[in-house]
Amino acid sequence: MYVPLLLQDFLKRAVYHYPQKTAVVDGERRFTYAEIETRVNRLANAFRSNGIAKGDRIAVLSPNRLEMYEAFYAAFLLGAVIVPLNTRLMPVDYEYIINHSGAKMFLVDAELAPLIEPVNTNLKSVEHYVSLQVKGFDNQNGWLIYDAMIESASHTAIYEDVDERDMATILYTSGTTGRPKGVVQTHRSLYMNAINTIIHTRAEDEDILLHTLPMFHVNGWGTPFSFTGMGATHVMLRKIDAAHIVHLVKTEGVTVACMAPTVLNMILNEPAAKTTNIRQDVRVVIAGSAPPPSFVKAVEQELGWTFLQVYGMTEVAPFITVGHIKKAIRDEGDENRIHRLKAKAGISMINVEARVVNEDGEDVEWNGQEVGEVICRSNSVMDGYWLQPEETARSIVNGWYHTGDMATIDENGYIDIVDRKKDIIISGGENISSIEVEGTLYEHPAVLEAAIIAVPHEKWGEVPHAVCVLREDAHVTEEEIISFCRERMAHFKCPKSVQFVTELPKTASGKIQKVVLREPFWKEADRLIN
Ligand code: ATP
Ligand code: MG
Repeated sequence: MYVPLLLQDFLKRAVYHYPQKTAVVDGERRFTYAEIETRVNRLANAFRSNGIAKGDRIAVLSPNRLEMYEAFYAAFLLGAVIVPLNTRLMPVDYEYIINHSGAKMFLVDAELAPLIEPVNTNLKSVEHYVSLQVKGFDNQNGWLIYDAMIESASHTAIYEDVDERDMATILYTSGTTGRPKGVVQTHRSLYMNAINTIIHTRAEDEDILLHTLPMFHVNGWGTPFSFTGMGATHVMLRKIDAAHIVHLVKTEGVTVACMAPTVLNMILNEPAAKTTNIRQDVRVVIAGSAPPPSFVKAVEQELGWTFLQVYGMTEVAPFITVGHIKKAIRDEGDENRIHRLKAKAGISMINVEARVVNEDGEDVEWNGQEVGEVICRSNSVMDGYWLQPEETARSIVNGWYHTGDMATIDENGYIDIVDRKKDIIISGGENISSIEVEGTLYEHPAVLEAAIIAVPHEKWGEVPHAVCVLREDAHVTEEEIISFCRERMAHFKCPKSVQFVTELPKTASGKIQKVVLREPFWKEADRLIN
């Protein structure tokens, strides 16, 4: 019987082949792979002597920092499970997630400790709190100190009997559409996603990866594993600050970064990005969530960075498709067309079989018109939702994971996400993509942010309703917005009513919570029906 490779074997490979190479840069701190291995072994021994065993959950509340990276690997050596927490949640969310996951140990960045203070006494499963120190922030009473744990523990290597099917992380979803769900990922699923990433980003030992994407967000899309395996260098970034990003790109020689389009937008607007020559440094920037082609073009032309769009979700660890441009299309050299294609979610990754299917489960036409749901099979699909078997059974049917995202697929096989299934508006039998209508609203100079939701309508069943945040000092009426849309799109797609608000409800990762916006309209409808 062969012994399968696990996530810690990525670190082992880097230590074997690149022991003296810088593994992690975190501010002033720099450690080689050989040094990281010793620190990780010490940490694993310290975890063990504080009662952590195989299967135990260790929650981590931290921005991107050395300790978070090390905690993943130390936990993996013991067969323990990391539960990374979003740093922008409310105390009640932490209480829900910690109690639901049953975490036994809780690693907390000292600066973030006040976030959990109001609910500390309600976290019954936690036996040990560990403080990740931050200059100027006091350590809590009775907490273990991370540095002290590392210093006093043995560096003897640990070999626990862990199988590739054992749990590695539980990732709570963003909660855009309801309560966060605990996605169970195994060593195997994260390992396969990492291989996927290495292939599609062409990761190599010379890469220097800037961790702009939080590691609590689907483990930073698995980059702490994939890029470690290749012997690349990790540069930690604690807070999003465009000028600092430009500085790190220049001083550390960053070659790869994963970013949300909002961060890229900040860099595009950062004066230092124009005065510092960063064009040649970054070979690829990996981005998610459907920006328009004009944005892709701006990133490529103004920053000189190749844009690679990825589409996925927590449940798939996370990648499904990649905006890889097929050679035949590249050879045609039509830049505008290439930017249009790069703005799409792309084609399935090597480890995934993705399809767009209609309600009968049949493939939709490859014409970029017919809309269906994205379903996929992959070695990276979650084991299930932690302690939620019914939810799991609803989302994985006959071996296919149902994403709940609606999409088209064009003649080249490029998938384009149209909307979430729950956000599609069905008006008089016609399907309306809220994303499409929002795109038109965003063209209006007065509109800063917009969301389109379905509201009940006597004749049409549902109609689109717009909720807009205006730019400072901008004035526009409901009628003006509606006629602006009517000039640009089919009339049945245009909002029938517009509401102006000062702020939209958002999740911690910045996604608009349409479920919150819809609620008052549908509550009223329920009352009338009953
Ligand atoms: P919850 O499942 O708790 O409601 P969530 O689905 O927002 O939250 P994530 O797993 O972080 O949590 O996000 C995945 C979703 O983000 C996808 O299902 C999809 O709707 C959207 N998404 C991700 N990548 C892209 C992309 N490239 N283009 C368009 N949408 C995307
Ligand atoms: Mg989701």
